[in-house]
Amino acid sequence: MSAVCVVGVQWGDEGKGKVIDVLAKGVDFVVRYQGGNNAGHTVVVGGETFVLHLVPSGVLRPGTVNVIGNGVVVDPVQLFREIDGLERRGVRVAECLRVSARAHLILPYHRTLDAGAERWKGAGRIGTTGRGIGPAYADKAARTGLRVADLLDRERFATRLRAALAEKNEVLAKVYGEPPLSFESTFETYAALAERMVPFVCDAGDLLRRAHREGRKILFEGAQGTMLDLDAGTYPYVTSSSTGCWGVAGGTGFPPRRIDEVVGIAKAYCTRVGEGPFPSELPGDLGDLLRERGKEYGATTGRPRRCGWFDLLAARYAIELNGVDRLAVTNVDVLSGFDPIRVAVGYRCGGRVLESFPADRADLDGCAPVFRDFRGFREEITAVTAFDRLPQEARTYVEFLEGALGVPIPVVSVGPGREQVIRRDPGKGAR
Ligand code: GDP
Repeated sequence: MSAVCVVGVQWGDEGKGKVIDVLAKGVDFVVRYQGGNNAGHTVVVGGETFVLHLVPSGVLRPGTVNVIGNGVVVDPVQLFREIDGLERRGVRVAECLRVSARAHLILPYHRTLDAGAERWKGAGRIGTTGRGIGPAYADKAARTGLRVADLLDRERFATRLRAALAEKNEVLAKVYGEPPLSFESTFETYAALAERMVPFVCDAGDLLRRAHREGRKILFEGAQGTMLDLDAGTYPYVTSSSTGCWGVAGGTGFPPRRIDEVVGIAKAYCTRVGEGPFPSELPGDLGDLLRERGKEYGATTGRPRRCGWFDLLAARYAIELNGVDRLAVTNVDVLSGFDPIRVAVGYRCGGRVLESFPADRADLDGCAPVFRDFRGFREEITAVTAFDRLPQEARTYVEFLEGALGVPIPVVSVGPGREQVIRRDPGKGAR
Protein backbone atom coordinates (compact mmCIF):
# COMPACT_ATOMS: atom_id res chain seq x y z
CA MET A 1 0.00 0.00 0.00
CA SER A 2 1.58 3.26 -0.97
CA ALA A 3 -0.98 5.78 0.40
CA VAL A 4 -2.70 5.03 3.68
CA CYS A 5 -4.90 7.29 5.75
CA VAL A 6 -5.29 6.81 9.50
CA VAL A 7 -8.41 8.25 11.13
CA GLY A 8 -10.03 8.18 14.53
CA VAL A 9 -13.56 6.73 14.51
CA GLN A 10 -14.66 8.24 17.82
CA TRP A 11 -14.30 11.70 19.37
CA GLY A 12 -10.52 11.87 19.10
CA ASP A 13 -7.75 10.72 21.44
CA GLU A 14 -8.15 7.16 20.20
CA GLY A 15 -4.40 6.58 20.35
CA LYS A 16 -3.78 7.48 16.71
CA GLY A 17 -0.31 8.84 17.50
CA LYS A 18 0.82 5.50 18.85
CA VAL A 19 -0.62 3.45 15.98
CA ILE A 20 0.71 5.90 13.39
CA ASP A 21 4.14 5.64 14.95
CA VAL A 22 3.92 1.86 14.63
CA LEU A 23 2.67 2.05 11.02
CA ALA A 24 5.21 4.75 10.12
CA LYS A 25 8.02 2.20 10.13
CA GLY A 26 9.19 2.00 6.52
CA VAL A 27 6.99 4.90 5.42
CA ASP A 28 8.58 7.78 3.48
CA PHE A 29 6.10 10.59 4.26
CA VAL A 30 3.79 11.25 7.21
CA VAL A 31 1.30 14.01 6.49
CA ARG A 32 -1.07 16.03 8.67
CA TYR A 33 -4.08 17.23 6.68
CA GLN A 34 -6.23 19.18 9.14
CA GLY A 35 -6.51 20.67 12.61
CA GLY A 36 -3.99 22.76 14.41
CA ASN A 37 -2.15 22.71 17.68
CA ASN A 38 -5.41 21.80 19.41
CA ALA A 39 -4.55 18.20 18.58
CA GLY A 40 -2.10 16.22 20.61
CA HIS A 41 -0.71 12.87 19.68
CA THR A 42 1.12 11.05 22.44
CA VAL A 43 3.83 8.64 21.37
CA VAL A 44 5.90 6.61 23.82
CA VAL A 45 9.26 5.45 22.50
CA GLY A 46 11.67 3.53 24.70
CA GLY A 47 9.78 4.69 27.79
CA GLU A 48 10.07 8.35 26.76
CA THR A 49 6.84 10.22 26.14
CA PHE A 50 6.54 12.69 23.29
CA VAL A 51 3.44 14.83 22.87
CA LEU A 52 3.14 16.16 19.34
CA HIS A 53 0.78 18.98 18.48
CA LEU A 54 1.51 20.18 14.96
CA VAL A 55 4.51 18.13 13.94
CA PRO A 56 3.44 14.83 12.32
CA SER A 57 4.09 11.63 14.28
CA GLY A 58 6.62 10.35 11.72
CA VAL A 59 9.18 12.74 13.21
CA LEU A 60 10.12 10.01 15.67
CA ARG A 61 11.08 7.67 12.82
CA PRO A 62 14.39 8.83 11.32
CA GLY A 63 14.32 9.05 7.54
CA THR A 64 10.66 10.02 7.35
CA VAL A 65 9.63 13.33 5.76
CA ASN A 66 6.89 15.01 7.78
CA VAL A 67 4.49 17.30 5.97
CA ILE A 68 2.04 19.84 7.36
CA GLY A 69 -0.60 20.14 4.65
CA ASN A 70 -2.62 23.16 3.61
CA GLY A 71 -5.66 21.90 5.55
CA VAL A 72 -3.80 22.50 8.81
CA VAL A 73 -3.91 25.90 10.50
CA VAL A 74 -0.43 26.82 11.69
CA ASP A 75 0.42 28.95 14.68
CA PRO A 76 4.08 29.77 13.91
CA VAL A 77 4.86 30.61 17.55
CA GLN A 78 3.63 27.21 18.69
CA LEU A 79 5.23 25.40 15.77
CA PHE A 80 8.70 26.68 16.60
CA ARG A 81 8.15 26.09 20.30
CA GLU A 82 7.35 22.47 19.47
CA ILE A 83 10.31 22.11 17.10
CA ASP A 84 12.69 23.58 19.67
CA GLY A 85 11.33 21.30 22.40
CA LEU A 86 11.81 18.22 20.22
CA GLU A 87 15.29 19.26 19.09
CA ARG A 88 16.32 19.80 22.74
CA ARG A 89 15.34 16.18 23.35
CA GLY A 90 17.49 14.98 20.46
CA VAL A 91 14.75 14.62 17.83
CA ARG A 92 15.97 16.08 14.56
CA VAL A 93 13.09 18.03 13.10
CA ALA A 94 14.74 20.67 10.96
CA GLU A 95 15.79 18.33 8.14
CA CYS A 96 12.58 16.35 7.96
CA LEU A 97 9.74 18.87 8.18
CA ARG A 98 7.87 20.56 5.33
CA VAL A 99 5.04 23.07 5.64
CA SER A 100 2.56 23.87 2.89
CA ALA A 101 2.77 27.40 1.53
CA ARG A 102 -1.03 27.28 1.36
CA ALA A 103 -1.59 26.51 5.05
CA HIS A 104 -3.43 29.25 6.91
CA LEU A 105 -1.88 31.04 9.86
CA ILE A 106 -3.22 31.35 13.36
CA LEU A 107 -2.50 34.89 14.51
CA PRO A 108 -2.87 36.38 18.00
CA TYR A 109 -6.33 37.80 17.31
CA HIS A 110 -7.62 34.32 16.53
CA ARG A 111 -6.82 33.21 20.07
CA THR A 112 -8.48 36.28 21.58
CA LEU A 113 -11.54 35.82 19.36
CA ASP A 114 -11.72 32.14 20.32
CA ALA A 115 -11.83 32.96 24.03
CA GLY A 116 -14.26 35.84 23.44
CA ALA A 117 -16.66 33.72 21.38
CA GLU A 118 -16.71 31.00 24.02
CA ARG A 119 -17.47 33.58 26.73
CA TRP A 120 -20.19 35.06 24.55
CA LYS A 121 -21.86 31.66 24.10
CA GLY A 122 -22.00 31.10 27.88
CA ALA A 123 -23.73 27.81 28.67
CA GLY A 124 -23.84 27.04 24.93
CA ARG A 125 -20.04 27.10 24.63
CA ILE A 126 -18.37 24.40 22.57
CA GLY A 127 -15.46 23.76 24.89
CA THR A 128 -12.73 24.70 22.42
CA THR A 129 -9.08 24.52 23.40
CA GLY A 130 -8.86 28.32 23.02
CA ARG A 131 -5.98 28.04 20.56
CA GLY A 132 -7.62 30.13 17.85
CA ILE A 133 -8.30 27.18 15.56
CA GLY A 134 -11.99 27.89 14.86
CA PRO A 135 -11.51 31.62 14.11
CA ALA A 136 -8.56 30.83 11.80
CA TYR A 137 -10.72 28.40 9.82
CA ALA A 138 -13.54 30.94 9.83
CA ASP A 139 -11.21 33.50 8.24
CA LYS A 140 -10.12 30.92 5.69
CA ALA A 141 -13.75 30.33 4.68
CA ALA A 142 -14.42 34.08 4.72
CA ARG A 143 -11.39 34.58 2.46
CA THR A 144 -9.72 36.95 4.88
CA GLY A 145 -7.08 34.53 6.18
CA LEU A 146 -3.32 34.94 5.90
CA ARG A 147 -1.31 32.00 4.65
CA VAL A 148 2.21 30.72 5.18
CA ALA A 149 3.21 32.09 1.75
CA ASP A 150 2.06 35.56 2.86
CA LEU A 151 4.37 35.37 5.83
CA LEU A 152 7.39 34.94 3.59
CA ASP A 153 6.83 38.19 1.71
CA ARG A 154 7.48 41.00 4.20
CA GLU A 155 5.52 43.67 2.35
CA ARG A 156 2.60 41.50 1.49
CA PHE A 157 2.44 40.26 5.07
CA ALA A 158 2.48 43.85 6.40
CA THR A 159 -0.36 44.91 4.09
CA ARG A 160 -2.55 41.90 4.85
CA LEU A 161 -1.88 41.98 8.58
CA ARG A 162 -2.69 45.69 8.74
CA ALA A 163 -5.98 45.14 6.91
CA ALA A 164 -6.90 42.17 9.09
CA LEU A 165 -6.08 44.00 12.33
CA ALA A 166 -8.15 47.01 11.33
CA GLU A 167 -11.23 44.80 11.26
CA LYS A 168 -10.35 42.43 14.08
CA ASN A 169 -9.51 45.21 16.52
CA GLU A 170 -12.98 46.68 15.97
CA VAL A 171 -14.60 43.32 16.69
CA LEU A 172 -12.35 42.69 19.70
CA ALA A 173 -13.22 46.08 21.20
CA LYS A 174 -16.90 46.37 20.31
CA VAL A 175 -18.09 42.80 20.70
CA TYR A 176 -15.74 41.32 23.25
CA GLY A 177 -14.46 44.38 25.14
CA GLU A 178 -10.84 43.42 24.46
CA PRO A 179 -7.95 45.88 23.97
CA PRO A 180 -6.67 46.28 20.39
CA LEU A 181 -3.62 44.38 19.20
CA SER A 182 -0.67 46.46 18.07
CA PHE A 183 0.30 46.14 14.43
CA GLU A 184 3.98 46.88 15.11
CA SER A 185 4.60 44.27 17.78
CA THR A 186 2.54 41.60 16.00
CA PHE A 187 4.34 42.30 12.74
CA GLU A 188 7.81 42.18 14.32
CA THR A 189 7.12 38.90 16.12
CA TYR A 190 5.85 37.19 12.98
CA ALA A 191 8.37 38.71 10.60
CA ALA A 192 11.13 37.22 12.77
CA LEU A 193 9.44 33.81 12.65
CA ALA A 194 9.10 34.11 8.88
CA GLU A 195 12.85 33.83 8.52
CA ARG A 196 12.84 30.58 10.43
CA MET A 197 9.92 29.32 8.35
CA VAL A 198 11.60 29.76 4.93
CA PRO A 199 13.49 26.42 4.77
CA PHE A 200 10.36 24.42 5.59
CA VAL A 201 7.94 25.93 3.11
CA CYS A 202 6.92 23.92 0.05
CA ASP A 203 4.12 23.15 -2.36
CA ALA A 204 2.99 20.15 -0.34
CA GLY A 205 0.55 18.81 -2.93
CA ASP A 206 3.19 18.84 -5.63
CA LEU A 207 5.68 17.13 -3.30
CA LEU A 208 3.22 14.38 -2.39
CA ARG A 209 1.91 13.75 -5.88
CA ARG A 210 5.46 13.45 -7.15
CA ALA A 211 6.42 11.15 -4.28
CA HIS A 212 3.43 8.96 -5.06
CA ARG A 213 4.39 8.76 -8.74
CA GLU A 214 7.85 7.63 -7.63
CA GLY A 215 6.31 4.83 -5.56
CA ARG A 216 7.08 6.33 -2.16
CA LYS A 217 4.96 5.33 0.83
CA ILE A 218 2.73 8.02 2.28
CA LEU A 219 0.76 7.96 5.50
CA PHE A 220 -1.88 10.62 6.16
CA GLU A 221 -2.62 11.20 9.80
CA GLY A 222 -5.93 12.54 10.97
CA ALA A 223 -6.19 14.59 14.12
CA GLN A 224 -9.23 14.51 16.43
CA GLY A 225 -11.84 11.95 15.36
CA THR A 226 -14.62 11.50 12.84
CA MET A 227 -17.31 12.33 15.42
CA LEU A 228 -15.71 15.78 15.67
CA ASP A 229 -15.71 16.33 11.90
CA LEU A 230 -17.23 19.63 10.85
CA ASP A 231 -19.83 17.94 8.63
CA ALA A 232 -20.16 14.41 9.91
CA GLY A 233 -19.78 15.04 13.63
CA THR A 234 -22.10 16.15 16.39
CA TYR A 235 -22.44 19.70 15.10
CA PRO A 236 -22.00 22.30 16.53
CA TYR A 237 -19.90 20.45 19.12
CA VAL A 238 -17.25 19.63 16.55
CA THR A 239 -13.91 20.91 15.41
CA SER A 240 -13.64 23.31 12.47
CA SER A 241 -12.04 20.97 9.94
CA SER A 242 -12.62 17.74 8.02
CA THR A 243 -11.22 15.07 10.30
CA GLY A 244 -12.41 12.16 8.17
CA CYS A 245 -10.33 10.72 5.34
CA TRP A 246 -12.19 13.02 2.90
CA GLY A 247 -10.12 15.84 4.43
CA VAL A 248 -6.97 14.42 2.84
CA ALA A 249 -7.67 15.60 -0.69
CA GLY A 250 -8.57 19.18 0.11
CA GLY A 251 -6.12 19.37 2.98
CA THR A 252 -3.04 18.22 1.11
CA GLY A 253 -3.55 18.38 -2.65
CA PHE A 254 -3.38 14.59 -2.95
CA PRO A 255 -5.97 12.97 -5.26
CA PRO A 256 -8.63 11.09 -3.25
CA ARG A 257 -8.66 8.15 -5.67
CA ARG A 258 -4.99 7.49 -4.97
CA ILE A 259 -5.62 6.63 -1.32
CA ASP A 260 -5.20 2.86 -1.15
CA GLU A 261 -6.35 2.13 2.35
CA VAL A 262 -8.11 3.72 5.30
CA VAL A 263 -7.13 2.50 8.75
CA GLY A 264 -9.50 3.37 11.58
CA ILE A 265 -8.49 3.70 15.22
CA ALA A 266 -10.93 3.10 18.06
CA LYS A 267 -10.40 2.97 21.76
CA ALA A 268 -11.90 -0.04 23.54
CA TYR A 269 -14.21 2.46 25.27
CA CYS A 270 -15.10 6.07 24.46
CA THR A 271 -13.87 9.47 25.56
CA ARG A 272 -14.76 12.98 24.57
CA VAL A 273 -13.29 16.36 25.50
CA GLY A 274 -15.41 19.49 25.62
CA GLU A 275 -19.15 19.86 25.43
CA GLY A 276 -21.65 18.00 23.28
CA PRO A 277 -23.67 14.80 23.11
CA PHE A 278 -22.05 11.61 24.36
CA PRO A 279 -24.77 8.98 24.69
CA SER A 280 -22.65 6.21 26.25
CA GLU A 281 -21.06 8.53 28.83
CA LEU A 282 -20.40 6.92 32.17
CA PRO A 283 -20.88 9.46 34.91
CA GLY A 284 -19.90 8.90 38.54
CA ASP A 285 -17.31 6.62 40.09
CA LEU A 286 -17.00 4.18 37.21
CA GLY A 287 -16.36 7.01 34.75
CA ASP A 288 -13.76 8.43 37.13
CA LEU A 289 -12.12 5.03 37.41
CA LEU A 290 -11.95 4.68 33.63
CA ARG A 291 -10.38 8.16 33.45
CA GLU A 292 -7.76 7.32 36.07
CA ARG A 293 -6.92 3.91 34.62
CA GLY A 294 -6.72 5.25 31.08
CA LYS A 295 -4.97 8.49 32.12
CA GLU A 296 -7.68 10.26 30.20
CA TYR A 297 -6.48 13.84 30.38
CA GLY A 298 -6.06 15.98 27.25
CA ALA A 299 -2.59 15.74 25.69
CA THR A 300 -2.76 19.43 24.76
CA THR A 301 -4.73 21.05 27.56
CA GLY A 302 -4.60 18.53 30.42
CA ARG A 303 -8.41 18.73 30.60
CA PRO A 304 -10.10 15.64 32.06
CA ARG A 305 -11.78 13.66 29.29
CA ARG A 306 -15.35 12.54 29.67
CA CYS A 307 -15.37 8.74 29.67
CA GLY A 308 -17.96 6.17 28.64
CA TRP A 309 -18.53 2.74 27.17
CA PHE A 310 -17.85 1.79 23.56
CA ASP A 311 -20.51 3.27 21.30
CA LEU A 312 -21.23 0.85 18.48
CA LEU A 313 -23.53 3.23 16.61
CA ALA A 314 -21.03 6.07 16.52
CA ALA A 315 -18.12 3.80 15.56
CA ARG A 316 -20.10 1.99 12.86
CA TYR A 317 -21.21 5.31 11.40
CA ALA A 318 -17.64 6.64 11.35
CA ILE A 319 -16.30 3.40 9.87
CA GLU A 320 -18.89 3.47 7.09
CA LEU A 321 -18.29 7.14 6.30
CA ASN A 322 -14.55 6.67 6.02
CA GLY A 323 -14.80 3.34 4.24
CA VAL A 324 -12.44 1.96 6.88
CA ASP A 325 -10.62 -1.13 5.61
CA ARG A 326 -9.18 -2.27 8.91
CA LEU A 327 -9.38 -1.15 12.48
CA ALA A 328 -6.92 -0.96 15.37
CA VAL A 329 -8.47 -1.14 18.82
CA THR A 330 -6.42 0.56 21.52
CA ASN A 331 -6.47 0.72 25.33
CA VAL A 332 -7.85 -2.79 25.77
CA ASP A 333 -5.58 -3.04 28.84
CA VAL A 334 -7.53 -0.21 30.52
CA LEU A 335 -10.66 -2.39 30.70
CA SER A 336 -8.94 -4.84 33.06
CA GLY A 337 -10.90 -4.90 36.33
CA PHE A 338 -14.19 -3.70 34.85
CA ASP A 339 -16.99 -6.25 35.09
CA PRO A 340 -19.22 -6.10 33.17
CA ILE A 341 -17.76 -4.34 30.16
CA ARG A 342 -20.62 -2.63 28.40
CA VAL A 343 -21.21 -1.62 24.79
CA ALA A 344 -23.91 0.77 23.62
CA VAL A 345 -25.67 -1.18 20.85
CA GLY A 346 -28.66 1.14 20.39
CA TYR A 347 -30.21 4.41 21.53
CA ARG A 348 -33.68 4.49 23.04
CA CYS A 349 -35.43 7.69 21.94
CA GLY A 350 -39.01 8.05 23.10
CA GLY A 351 -40.67 4.79 22.13
CA ARG A 352 -38.11 3.90 19.43
CA VAL A 353 -34.76 2.15 19.56
CA LEU A 354 -32.29 3.57 17.04
CA GLU A 355 -29.65 1.24 15.69
CA SER A 356 -27.86 3.76 13.52
CA PHE A 357 -26.39 7.11 14.45
CA PRO A 358 -29.01 9.88 14.09
CA ALA A 359 -28.46 12.96 11.93
CA ASP A 360 -30.45 15.27 14.17
CA ARG A 361 -28.87 16.35 17.43
CA ALA A 362 -32.30 16.62 19.03
CA ASP A 363 -32.57 12.81 18.80
CA LEU A 364 -29.23 12.43 20.53
CA ASP A 365 -30.08 14.84 23.32
CA GLY A 366 -33.14 12.90 24.33
CA CYS A 367 -31.84 9.37 23.98
CA ALA A 368 -30.61 6.77 26.45
CA PRO A 369 -28.16 4.06 25.47
CA VAL A 370 -29.15 0.42 25.20
CA PHE A 371 -26.24 -1.60 26.54
CA ARG A 372 -25.07 -5.12 25.92
CA ASP A 373 -22.91 -6.53 28.70
CA PHE A 374 -19.76 -8.61 28.39
CA ARG A 375 -17.88 -10.45 31.10
CA GLY A 376 -14.84 -8.57 32.27
CA PHE A 377 -11.32 -9.79 33.03
CA ARG A 378 -8.98 -9.03 35.91
CA GLU A 379 -5.60 -9.95 34.47
CA GLU A 380 -2.98 -7.35 33.66
CA ILE A 381 -2.47 -7.65 29.89
CA THR A 382 0.07 -4.93 29.11
CA ALA A 383 2.88 -7.45 28.47
CA VAL A 384 0.80 -9.80 26.29
CA THR A 385 2.09 -10.04 22.72
CA ALA A 386 -0.13 -12.76 21.22
CA PHE A 387 -3.89 -12.63 20.86
CA ASP A 388 -4.40 -16.16 22.12
CA ARG A 389 -2.60 -15.22 25.35
CA LEU A 390 -5.24 -12.61 26.18
CA PRO A 391 -7.93 -13.64 28.68
CA GLN A 392 -10.89 -15.28 26.93
CA GLU A 393 -13.14 -12.35 27.96
CA ALA A 394 -10.86 -9.81 26.25
CA ARG A 395 -10.76 -11.92 23.10
CA THR A 396 -14.54 -12.31 23.10
CA TYR A 397 -14.89 -8.56 23.42
CA VAL A 398 -12.56 -7.80 20.48
CA GLU A 399 -14.21 -10.51 18.37
CA PHE A 400 -17.63 -9.06 19.15
CA LEU A 401 -16.51 -5.59 18.04
CA GLU A 402 -15.08 -7.01 14.85
CA GLY A 403 -18.30 -8.83 13.98
CA ALA A 404 -20.62 -6.00 15.02
CA LEU A 405 -18.61 -3.34 13.20
CA GLY A 406 -18.06 -5.53 10.15
CA VAL A 407 -14.42 -4.59 9.80
CA PRO A 408 -11.25 -6.61 10.44
CA ILE A 409 -9.33 -5.79 13.62
CA PRO A 410 -5.79 -6.94 12.90
CA VAL A 411 -4.20 -4.72 15.57
CA VAL A 412 -4.97 -4.65 19.28
CA SER A 413 -3.06 -2.26 21.49
CA VAL A 414 -2.47 -3.08 25.15
CA GLY A 415 -0.36 -0.16 26.34
CA PRO A 416 1.08 3.15 25.25
CA GLY A 417 4.49 1.78 24.20
CA ARG A 418 5.54 1.11 20.62
CA GLU A 419 6.00 -2.57 21.41
CA GLN A 420 2.66 -3.06 23.19
CA VAL A 421 0.85 -4.17 20.06
CA ILE A 422 -0.79 -7.47 19.32
CA ARG A 423 -1.20 -8.44 15.69
CA ARG A 424 -3.85 -11.00 14.93
CA ASP A 425 -5.59 -12.67 12.03
CA PRO A 426 -8.99 -11.07 11.73
CA GLY A 427 -11.90 -13.42 12.36
CA LYS A 428 -14.33 -14.74 9.82
CA GLY A 429 -17.08 -12.36 10.96
CA ALA A 430 -15.18 -9.39 9.60
CA ARG A 431 -15.63 -8.14 6.10
P1 GDP B 1 -4.41 10.59 19.66
O1 GDP B 1 -4.66 12.05 19.57
O2 GDP B 1 -5.46 9.78 18.99
O3 GDP B 1 -3.03 10.22 19.23
O4 GDP B 1 -4.54 10.20 21.18
P2 GDP B 1 -3.79 10.85 22.44
O5 GDP B 1 -2.35 10.76 22.25
O6 GDP B 1 -4.36 12.15 22.77
O7 GDP B 1 -4.31 9.90 23.59
C1 GDP B 1 -4.07 8.58 23.60
C2 GDP B 1 -3.39 8.23 24.92
O8 GDP B 1 -3.46 6.85 25.12
C3 GDP B 1 -1.93 8.57 24.95
O9 GDP B 1 -1.55 8.92 26.24
C4 GDP B 1 -1.26 7.27 24.53
O10 GDP B 1 0.07 7.13 25.02
C5 GDP B 1 -2.16 6.30 25.19
N1 GDP B 1 -2.29 5.01 24.55
C6 GDP B 1 -2.28 4.70 23.22
N2 GDP B 1 -2.55 3.38 23.06
C7 GDP B 1 -2.73 2.87 24.30
C8 GDP B 1 -3.06 1.57 24.80
O11 GDP B 1 -3.27 0.62 24.07
N3 GDP B 1 -3.18 1.46 26.17
C9 GDP B 1 -2.99 2.49 27.02
N4 GDP B 1 -3.12 2.28 28.31
N5 GDP B 1 -2.70 3.72 26.58
C10 GDP B 1 -2.57 3.89 25.25
